[in-house]
Amino acid sequence: MLLVFIIVGVIPLYLFTHILLNNYMEKAVSNRFNQMQNQIIMLSNQMLPTGYLTLADVPEIDVEVNRVAEIYQGRIVVVNNNLNIVEDTYGLYDDNRYLVSKEVIQSFNGNSSRVHDKENNYLILTQPITHTTEEQKVVVGAIVMNSSTRDMESIISGLEQRAVIFSLALAIFIVIFALYFSNRLTKPLTRVVNSIDRLTEGYMDEEVSIKGYYEIEKISDSFNKMINRMQKIESTRQEFVSNVSHELKTPITSIKVLADSLLMQEDTPVELYREFLVDITEEIERENKIINDLLSLVKLNKTAGDMNISSININELLEQILKRLRPIAKKQNIEMIYESFRPVMAEVDEVKISLAISNLIENAIKYNTPEGWVRVSLNADHKYFFIKVSDSGIGIPEDVQDLIFERFYRVDKARSRESGGTGLGLAITRSVVQMHRGAIRVYSIEGEGTTFNVRIPLNYIV
Ligand code: ADP
Repeated sequence: MLLVFIIVGVIPLYLFTHILLNNYMEKAVSNRFNQMQNQIIMLSNQMLPTGYLTLADVPEIDVEVNRVAEIYQGRIVVVNNNLNIVEDTYGLYDDNRYLVSKEVIQSFNGNSSRVHDKENNYLILTQPITHTTEEQKVVVGAIVMNSSTRDMESIISGLEQRAVIFSLALAIFIVIFALYFSNRLTKPLTRVVNSIDRLTEGYMDEEVSIKGYYEIEKISDSFNKMINRMQKIESTRQEFVSNVSHELKTPITSIKVLADSLLMQEDTPVELYREFLVDITEEIERENKIINDLLSLVKLNKTAGDMNISSININELLEQILKRLRPIAKKQNIEMIYESFRPVMAEVDEVKISLAISNLIENAIKYNTPEGWVRVSLNADHKYFFIKVSDSGIGIPEDVQDLIFERFYRVDKARSRESGGTGLGLAITRSVVQMHRGAIRVYSIEGEGTTFNVRIPLNYIV
């Protein structure tokens, strides 16, 4: 974060100053050249009528040329069309000397030239002196003028110094600012990390309350939601384990009581042995059923990857289930009605769906009244198929209708036990429906009957 602040803050500032100063220098140089050019033109205009270029001695012009050279802290060399040096303000060359340079030759073609010697800090302007008659323009000489750029350099270096000081101050400010903010931003995150670490160590009791900026508060909210959910899962798990132990213990306790009473009596009649052994076998069967149901539930809860999906004719599936259950219904004189509104093919796990629907129909028979009825109906639209299992049975009190899908929950324990229930049937059914991305609802009026509605997509959604 610190790095980002510095990159975003200091580097643009540095580039900006650099470009600005460069531009300023260019502009100043070009201005200076223009001024020099104007001065030269003025000097040439004064020279032309006097014959100065033909080596006539004109002291006023010498003075004027020296004055201009001084103003620009430089040197002026005047050359005539024989390349003869007419005047040199430094006095190094006299009339006998010639000045031949690329720039001077060029100026006789009418071109002026501007050279900025950055190493030695001066500007060189070479400008033709032109005599304009009515017919033509004639170049009669050239002026080479140097001017020192030290004054401009010193302004620039002053500005540069100020920019460096300003950048440094800004960098220090940015570092302090970045340290403060990165600390502020990361502190709440560190607390979240600590809380997560504690959670990993197994302490699930702690919620975090972190105030900071919006995102951090959201993280802390989500974190608390996660902890709540984990707490709920943990308590359900513990409850499940204690329920399982209790349920598994009940038949074993009965078996122990039955066996002990047989052992305690001497000369027990064979009939009593037989009777008790029948009871013991029943308890063993019950234990077996609980274990089987538990195993199916655990298997279901594992992963959706275990789904064995194929295209199944649901009408046939329901008919098979009803055929298997009819004899049980018949024993209690319960009428079984099956209605199908249309043929339905759907992608389902046949074994699991069959288990889920059987549980519903078995319950409708188990919790029915004598001479009652069970109606199973099948319908579909373009997306889902619907199975409805209604009965004329004892119904479920409204306040526990949400609880019946919980594992081991039974409205009337004695009745459930009598009919061989384990309290796991509806939990299994709901799991299966959810694995198929479907939904299950119960409608019931106590004493009148119950209806379970199941809705499952025709095409399996992964
Ligand atoms: P069980 O093995 O006890 O039948 P389930 O999970 O299948 O367990 O059902 C849970 C409880 O819901 C049952 O014990 C019963 O009290 C109630 N229940 C389920 N289906 C019906 C129904 N069709 N009519 C009345 N009560 C029902």
